[in-house]
Amino acid sequence: MSKQYAVIGLGRFGMSVGVNLAAQGHEVLGIDSNEALVHDASSVLTHVIQADATDEEALKAMGLRNFDGVIVAIGSDLEASILVTLLLKEMGAPLVIAKASTELQGRVLQKIGADRVVYPERDMGARVAHSLVASNILDSIELSPKYSILEVEAPPQLCGKTLKELNLRNRYSVTVLAIKRDNSIMASPKAEDLIMSGDILVVIGPHDGFRNLEKLK
Ligand code: ATP
Repeated sequence: MSKQYAVIGLGRFGMSVGVNLAAQGHEVLGIDSNEALVHDASSVLTHVIQADATDEEALKAMGLRNFDGVIVAIGSDLEASILVTLLLKEMGAPLVIAKASTELQGRVLQKIGADRVVYPERDMGARVAHSLVASNILDSIELSPKYSILEVEAPPQLCGKTLKELNLRNRYSVTVLAIKRDNSIMASPKAEDLIMSGDILVVIGPHDGFRNLEKLK
């Protein structure tokens, strides 16, 4: 059944949410203070309004309390994202989903009543980490939005080389914590240790390091 959604903030994230909702057959109202963005969105979203969403009267006039969901996709303007979320809940919008750029922003948004907080940048980081040699990830622990520990099947481009030759730490900030081979484990492997086909590597590093490593041929 077609539902009615509003997206406040038509940046990359907001537009992506809006376009996807529209493609699923929902009615989408896009709101942004930036005229050019509103103009661009007008051909893909059902309705668009150019307005400052922190303007209480303007926001009330849009009747957002009757919408099935409102997505607050304002990331970098902390004050605006908090104010708009607060106003929406005060006026009775049943489902407010707010985007947070940082953990702290997310906690504030939750406290003032956001029904759901999403972290697109963090989630993308995790997804990128998971895409390292795609299906070869056996396990992962996300340490922070930027760092993970992964257990991966040794990618072919690393096999037959020593850790010293690969120099992963200097090139990608990626450290091999352990190599699992047959039924044994070499913890804290040495520079002259060789990575062999079939090895399982336990690596720690930043997500962009993994991504660059993935590109290595
Ligand atoms: P993204 O990463 O999704 O591109 P971002 O996290 O950098 O976005 P911002 O650029 O801060 O987010 O905001 C997204 C959009 O929200 C921008 O197009 C901006 O014009 C709009 N926006 C910010 N504050 C308001 C406001 N008070 N009223 C309406 N729109 C706003």
